[in-house]
Amino acid sequence: MFESDSEREGGSNRNQPDMRRRVFLTTLGAALGGAVLWSWRKPYAIVAAAKTEPGEVTIVQFSDAGARLDKVKIAKVVKSEAEWQKQLPSGVFEITRHADTEFAYSGKYWNLHDKGIYRCICCDNALFNSATKFDSGTGWPSFWEPIAQENVEEIHDTSFGMVRTAVACRRCDAHLGHVFEDGPRPTGQRFCMNSAALRFVKST
Ligand SMILES: [Zn+2]
Repeated sequence: MFESDSEREGGSNRNQPDMRRRVFLTTLGAALGGAVLWSWRKPYAIVAAAKTEPGEVTIVQFSDAGARLDKVKIAKVVKSEAEWQKQLPSGVFEITRHADTEFAYSGKYWNLHDKGIYRCICCDNALFNSATKFDSGTGWPSFWEPIAQENVEEIHDTSFGMVRTAVACRRCDAHLGHVFEDGPRPTGQRFCMNSAALRFVKST
């Protein structure tokens, strides 16, 4: 979108390239706010996402029906950028591997009320149970706790000038979303997730 808009404006203002660019950026910045910043900061997210290294993690396994099974020590899922890119649709790849965020109300799970569990779209690790899902009014699927604390990782995140806690899949380091302290009882937490990072498994 940015490139095509820029090129189109360039066609009618070639004698004033600096002014054109300044006006373009100012207008775009006013219209989209942090989106421009997001675009510039993206390379840093890519560097951060490349840190996944082989090793073992302890997670709790769950059946598709939501039954808690064994706590297991299991190898991390480590793949190259190219492998993830091949496995995942582009939007999912950007969200899970580069910490992008889907637009509010755009995902497929924010308004889903079915019973079931939510697994990691990248590695199938169980992440959330529908029993802890609540309507946060944000347009993102929200939960008051993960299915097992072992299965997610919370990461201090200071990107975009904000202090937040990012949430990632423990087994493959997929970026899932953020957790905030304004959730409902009993935990008071709000795990604000990207639908695109999740795969819902309906209880039968
Ligand atoms: Zn995962």
